[in-house]
Amino acid sequence: MIPVTEPYLPPRGRLDYYLDRVYASHRLTNDGPLVRELTRRLEDYLGVTNLLLVANGTLAIQLALATLGVKRGRGLTTPFTFPATSSALSWQGVEPQYADIDPETLNLDPLAADHAVTADTRVILPVHTYGNPCDVERFRALANRIRVPLVYDASHAFGVQLNGQSLLNWGDAATLSLHATKLFHTAEGGGIVFRDSHLLEEARSMINFGLDNGSPVRIGINAKMSEMHAAMGLAVLEAIDEIIDYRMAIQDHYRKRLSGRIELPVFSADASANGAYMPVLCRNAVHRKRVQRHLLANGIESRAYFSPALGSLGLYTKEITGAGVEFADRILCLPIFFGLSTIQVDHICDLVCAIPPTQEPAL
Ligand SMILES: *Cc1c(COP(=O)(O)O)cnc(C)c1O
Repeated sequence: MIPVTEPYLPPRGRLDYYLDRVYASHRLTNDGPLVRELTRRLEDYLGVTNLLLVANGTLAIQLALATLGVKRGRGLTTPFTFPATSSALSWQGVEPQYADIDPETLNLDPLAADHAVTADTRVILPVHTYGNPCDVERFRALANRIRVPLVYDASHAFGVQLNGQSLLNWGDAATLSLHATKLFHTAEGGGIVFRDSHLLEEARSMINFGLDNGSPVRIGINAKMSEMHAAMGLAVLEAIDEIIDYRMAIQDHYRKRLSGRIELPVFSADASANGAYMPVLCRNAVHRKRVQRHLLANGIESRAYFSPALGSLGLYTKEITGAGVEFADRILCLPIFFGLSTIQVDHICDLVCAIPPTQEPAL
């Protein structure tokens, strides 16, 4: 069975080097030396400042919202994402407000978002889906005009540069997921890049029960990254260039083999890719089901990532919307991970191309 993704495991010796340091220090958590070292090294690697490492990517979004004072009201967001983007809003008491996505990039469409603004809109939370940058200039202009914070869920955008600058530097805050299945991981983990260093310090207290010099000064939560997780991150970080190069080569190979045979999302020409995902667009839901079944029959896992469209569920918001539904019905993510071979990719492409697009059957 070829899985759709597989976490990168560093060589044991490399991980052990960091674990030995944990044992020597007797420090397991609470902003320990390895978390500090990983923070510094990631800031260097990514080209960012004001990075706070946290327990996971979902809490990263919640903390960004909380630190920016976003509570109650509604948050403009994309329906085409992992459920955590919406649930993070909901847990902060902010009701998601869905707008349509761009048919080429599959990112939240700034014009559609603009049309969806109401007097209750308190935040804009787009996602750089598959590591492909949103239209950051237009979201900045919209956020400035309606005077609300702009937070990017940049869970997929590790290492992506836009016009030579880290994509994470856009927005009042940008959040990362460092979950095992992501491009760069700490097993479980997340991060927030703040534009404003004061907010970083506030969030640092917030992830530690709201303590400041041992006394509670705000309502906090426990969202600290442990030393064990930082050890994994430091070991993975040593291989990150190799991992990204490998995944980009796989993604290139897929895109060459599939172009003209199945629709591919359009990646920004102004940004570096990171090879995090391999999305294709089937003709329709029936076509996707057939492709997925054919792959599975040949031992290959694929995932309808992101489906269903979050506004169609009546879960995060009472009103049901059709935003993003077409693409949620058509999307399919193919296997991509460190260690997948081009021979396997060729085989997967042959299987995908063997299933002709079908028209939806008449009801
Ligand atoms: C993975 C992911 C998250 C959640 O991150 P966790 O670290 O698993 O909590 C949020 N948003 C998007 C778009 C993701 O892909």
